[in-house]
Amino acid sequence: MPEPLTPGELLALDRQHVWHPYGPMPGKAAPLLVESASGVRLRLAEPVEGQDELVDGMSSWWSAVHGYNHPVLNDAARGQLDRMSHVMFGGLTHEPAVRLAKRLVDISPEPLQHVFLADSGSVSVEVAVKMCLQYWRSLGKPRKQRLLTWRGGYHGDTWQPMSVCDPDGGMHELWQGVLPRQIFADTPPAGFDAAPDEAYTAHLRELIGRHAEELAAVIVEPVVQGAGGMSFHSPEYLRVLREACDEHGVLLVFDEIATGFGRTGALFAAEHASVAPDVMCLGKALTGGYLTLAATLCTTAVADGISRGALPVLAHGPTFMGNPLAAAVADASISLLLSQDWGQEVKRIEAGLRNGLAPAADLPGVREVRVLGAIGVVQLDHEVDMAAATRAAVREGVWLRPFRDLIYTMPPYITGDDDVARICAAVCAAAREG
Ligand SMILES: *Cc1c(COP(=O)(O)O)cnc(C)c1O
Repeated sequence: MPEPLTPGELLALDRQHVWHPYGPMPGKAAPLLVESASGVRLRLAEPVEGQDELVDGMSSWWSAVHGYNHPVLNDAARGQLDRMSHVMFGGLTHEPAVRLAKRLVDISPEPLQHVFLADSGSVSVEVAVKMCLQYWRSLGKPRKQRLLTWRGGYHGDTWQPMSVCDPDGGMHELWQGVLPRQIFADTPPAGFDAAPDEAYTAHLRELIGRHAEELAAVIVEPVVQGAGGMSFHSPEYLRVLREACDEHGVLLVFDEIATGFGRTGALFAAEHASVAPDVMCLGKALTGGYLTLAATLCTTAVADGISRGALPVLAHGPTFMGNPLAAAVADASISLLLSQDWGQEVKRIEAGLRNGLAPAADLPGVREVRVLGAIGVVQLDHEVDMAAATRAAVREGVWLRPFRDLIYTMPPYITGDDDVARICAAVCAAAREG
């Protein structure tokens, strides 16, 4: 065992050497030091604001749907660890990957039949884009190489995903002029239940029609735009995209990395619209938040197109592709999800969030409160003061990570009613003080 380090020493070394997400080096604010996590609670190495345990309102960025340290997932990981944690996927295969792929095909929209296992969400989007571009190349249409999306989206931090993130006000403004130039439709009108706006659907159809010759694919987050702004839109727009893509010979990609596995109240957000994409990306909750793994699913038409081309292979193969440990935990996590009435749990949390966040609507500086499935959002009319909002939430015993003008939560599905209420109180406190 290495020498134990005190919390003070760890934080000093962290500040000196460790880069954190979306931050400078060293970071602006000291991170909280987590010692362990169990159920919906993060245990801190030393008390902060008088709290040594925080209820997790973030599911570790949408992923830990079953909470932490779950006995079923721990067993799956341990069992697999004793067999092998990894072998290369080139020329070899194994039960965890095969089982997981079959399960993903079984539970996803019917036309999706083939699975590429990647190592992170961003990489799965890179693979999706590569699939689409290569499909058209194989069909002798190499000019079809651009992407269309709507504004307000987020698809990851590597190059192709960044090019379809919201081009204004997002994290990737810096890269304008360097990234591939994609085609942007306006942000979809807000509101899951809002009647579809005909001017907007006409705008989508017109743009897809006008650029069809150069468009490989349309890529969007269905129903919920996550890190791009935590906004919800009518599923009807997905039907419009499906129709317009079919009419004009353009592939449709759904990025369900945030929405997959029940978060919006449907197992996949595409189900709200009863449409199937040609390519679908999954990640985040895929392993129940245990390990990094993502998947790109595609139809047989896409797979055949690529595999009959001049270069009849999909030229992608990460070193840790199909990692057995991650695949075994993912299969156990999905099986655990489906073994319970997860839809009822999400509905229960939705009701708790609606109830608990309602008071925030009357706070000064709050523009809107919105809830869909196990997602609760308070949007301010100003940029949130991160330090003050985080401190306010921690004082209430809750972990939140606000960004831009948004204070939001997507709790683990196992969060009890009392803890949902506590998270809501913390969101309100953060909105008051941030
Ligand atoms: C988080 C996210 C990604 C990127 O996934 P990483 O695993 O962080 O690379 C892509 N798309 C959406 C919709 C996401 O929410």
